[in-house]
Amino acid sequence: MIGFFQSAKNERSSKRLAFLVGVIILFILIVFAFIFGIKEPVNIYNNCSLPKNYDCSILQGWRSNEEQEELFKAGRSKLRAKQSKHNYHPSFAVDVAPYPVDWENKERFYHFAGYVKGVADTIGIKIRWGGDWNNNNSFDDQTFDDLPHFELINKGF
Ligand SMILES: [Zn+2]
Repeated sequence: MIGFFQSAKNERSSKRLAFLVGVIILFILIVFAFIFGIKEPVNIYNNCSLPKNYDCSILQGWRSNEEQEELFKAGRSKLRAKQSKHNYHPSFAVDVAPYPVDWENKERFYHFAGYVKGVADTIGIKIRWGGDWNNNNSFDDQTFDDLPHFELINKGF
């Protein structure tokens, strides 16, 4: 009988020990989560309900004056050297396309631009898109489409 009570007592103390170890492990995990949670870079998208991923390819950010002049001469840009927001370093413009890049599928560029503009609006950054230069949400008045182009308004030129 005494043996029975002793083994029951041992069982209880081993359960207490297991519980105590569990509490300690949980406490350590909470401390780690707290520390790494604070150290994690602030994600500006955390506060909005937009999807966090849209696979895309960055085609170009900064562009040299020589490259700008070549694009102008080739008719692929309306701007000469030192006139484009791509010519700032760091650049105030970026050319980016939904991935995989398919130049024939213009609908994807429009869809992607809507996503980018929605995110920019949500976080309060004014941008201009090359598919709607005057930002009037109409494509009928476009004279020159540059669908992968996005630039910061109120920066640079
Ligand atoms: Zn561009």
